[in-house]
Amino acid sequence: MGKVFSELNPPRRVLMGPGPSNVHPRVLKAMATPLVGHLDPEFLTIMNETQDLQRQVFRTKNRFTIPVSGTGSSGMETCLTNLVEEGDEVVVCVNGVFGMRMADIVGRNRGVLIKVEGEWGRAIAPEAVEKALKGRKAKLVAIVHAETSTGVRQPMEEISRITHDNGALLLADTVTSLGGCAVEVDGWEIDACYSGTQKCLSVPPGLSPISFSSRAMKKLDKRKSKVPSWYLDMTMVRNYWGKERTYHHTAPISMIYALREGLRIIVEEGLEARFARHDLNHRALAAGLAAMGMELLPPEGERLPMLNAVKIPEGVDDAAVRAQLLSEFSMEIGGGLGEFKGKVWRVGLMGESSTRTNVVLFLSALEQILAARGVSVKRGAAVEAASAAYGG
Ligand SMILES: *Cc1c(COP(=O)(O)O)cnc(C)c1O
Repeated sequence: MGKVFSELNPPRRVLMGPGPSNVHPRVLKAMATPLVGHLDPEFLTIMNETQDLQRQVFRTKNRFTIPVSGTGSSGMETCLTNLVEEGDEVVVCVNGVFGMRMADIVGRNRGVLIKVEGEWGRAIAPEAVEKALKGRKAKLVAIVHAETSTGVRQPMEEISRITHDNGALLLADTVTSLGGCAVEVDGWEIDACYSGTQKCLSVPPGLSPISFSSRAMKKLDKRKSKVPSWYLDMTMVRNYWGKERTYHHTAPISMIYALREGLRIIVEEGLEARFARHDLNHRALAAGLAAMGMELLPPEGERLPMLNAVKIPEGVDDAAVRAQLLSEFSMEIGGGLGEFKGKVWRVGLMGESSTRTNVVLFLSALEQILAARGVSVKRGAAVEAASAAYGG
């Protein structure tokens, strides 16, 4: 007989990396409820409710608002594979890892890639997008709203105006921002956007909520060629989420239960209250880090509340500190990516993980670890500064 192994018993972690974030027990409970069939009338109601909740969180009236079966990257691939046809000029803004990933996917779909490159750790300047669009007939501008690799928040309104003035559609990556800071799909006239469940929605990884405007649906309807991916072909998938309920692939039932519950928790808390909570915890963390002599990578005004890229102090061993946080405090934070590998830590305060308890725990743990490694830190100063940010 083959080995049976022991019953699964993963450790309890404080998840303060770039995702996944901690999951509310109500979401875990929803996932453990009985399965129904993916065409069961009860499930069709659950699908409709999930779409309704997803529209509330995206702040959109877009009919085509569904969760794609797959993680955040599947939403990225869905948007680009459905909206880019061979020969289409596509402007992709690149100031971090996820902009690079979009650029890669545009090429795989035989789009004509026009890259707008920006400094990593800074937002993209609207003028750069304007310059790229000038004298062309670009079909699409793709940009990351919350660049998880650098902790930069991208202002969207000006770029949206420029994009539409030039007759293009706007595609936004809201994987990290959705549920943690304002994402205004209708207000900012975003034509296609995608998110992921495991960041500020605090649901396990596995679904990618997306939304297409009527302009995006028109572009999809007018395609001359079939969508090159069968699984991600929204001209077929929409018939399952629409009135027809035509089988395309079996919906991941338990994940949709989880998303529905996660979205319910968000709507209960209220979007504005949730954004304020993320902001407050971010400001407390930044104050605590400053008291330890550490600073964030992006300048003030361009920082995300849910993903804090912290410059690692000179001479401190990145991997060793993260390993110690994990083994001694059961706490996960992320390392740097690309040019920031070994240079920054990425501290997530996403969804359920964005709490005062976690901020204080992380600051205390980091202070203890750094002090033991001979970094001169004033003991207690970080938590004191964070407490002051909370109002005492
Ligand atoms: C996490 C992330 C993705 C990819 O999502 P996966 O769930 O890892 O596939 C895409 N874009 C951004 C900005 C992200 O943070």
